Amino acid sequence: MSTPPKTVALIAHDGKKADMVAFAISHRDVLQRYELIATRTTGQLLRDKCDLEVELMLSGPHGGDAQIAAQVAEGRIEAVFFFIDPLGKHPHDPDINTLLRICNVHNVPLATNTATAAYIISMKAL
Ligand code: PGA
Repeated sequence: MSTPPKTVALIAHDGKKADMVAFAISHRDVLQRYELIATRTTGQLLRDKCDLEVELMLSGPHGGDAQIAAQVAEGRIEAVFFFIDPLGKHPHDPDINTLLRICNVHNVPLATNTATAAYIISMKAL
């Protein structure tokens, strides 16, 4: 019996969306082996610019981070790539903190910048 593909979550704040697209293009061969979920605008960009199949959640400010946090809590996510813009203001700060906290509660790999993301993905530990 084959095991279903693991799921990776991708989220990027507006100031980091270009970095996310560049990251996804660089690591497309690895990412396409996983089920991918993303907040809406990030996911749409990954579909359009990187030709990746991505399940779209709600946009982050509309609850997408909270939806992904729920999936992390349910043990359905292998790793989270969440490119945070530390210089931006975010109306959904509580949801962002929830997602970070839930990843730490459940010991799920979490990359909040491109350098860490590159390490995780190049470890091939996913
Ligand atoms: P977005 O959400 O991909 O819909 O822009 C990301 C976020 O701001 O959390």
